[in-house]
Amino acid sequence: MPLNVRPVRAFADNYIWLIDAPAAPGRVVAVDPGDAAPLLAELQRSGSSLAAILLTHHHPDHIGGVSRLLERGRVPVFGPDDPRIGLPIRTLRDAEQCKLPDLGLAFDTLAVPGHTLSHIAFWGHGALFSGDTLFSAGCGRMFEGTPPQMSASLHRLRDLPPDTLMYCGHEYTAANLRFALTVDPHNTAALEHRDAVKRLRAADEPTLPSPLSLEIRINPFLRCDDATVRAAAERHAGKPLAGAADVFAVLRAWKDQFR
Ligand SMILES: [Zn+2]
Repeated sequence: MPLNVRPVRAFADNYIWLIDAPAAPGRVVAVDPGDAAPLLAELQRSGSSLAAILLTHHHPDHIGGVSRLLERGRVPVFGPDDPRIGLPIRTLRDAEQCKLPDLGLAFDTLAVPGHTLSHIAFWGHGALFSGDTLFSAGCGRMFEGTPPQMSASLHRLRDLPPDTLMYCGHEYTAANLRFALTVDPHNTAALEHRDAVKRLRAADEPTLPSPLSLEIRINPFLRCDDATVRAAAERHAGKPLAGAADVFAVLRAWKDQFR
């Protein structure tokens, strides 16, 4: 059975994802609660209670609400082993399972360094919580990792089953598609998706989750080994590029400057 997941908006464009526990009606798991206030409001509105917290990385807009949530009641918090989180959490290593048997939930931990070195993603029940590593039609900024590291992380996510639904940390899809279509202007799937995204955003609806099968077609950062994307990166760099990690490095730097 697919998970029941709903977004809670925080700050300008963050999503805190709320997962309904399949085995415990009324109990929910929060992913990356950067701000407690909107989450508490949603718990109140829906009459649900917080049962656990998952953290993908240490950035304040992903963990900032945890202390206040824990003051209202202890729940287990799972996240990467990183002292910068500074909270009592159960740390998860790559390939370790995050198990919540009372809730009927279990996720695989995937180490995906690049945006930050300790960034992890959670995969299970056909859902991927990718934090700031993979966005729809884009990827996170490479603050701490190297291009080979982040490119390998994105390939790991690309290799998950294509029917996986991707839930990421920010609503960046429209801007990402502008860049994706600059790299690959004739990408039919991206052109069609741009229209769908325009309609969703005009109605103030989230563009997420996004199926991995779609991301594989529209997201240039998942297509660094594609001939068209590679040719665009080579034109931009003005030199031939040796492999996918070099293509990724050029795309990432290009996107950093893109307006
Ligand atoms: Zn971040």
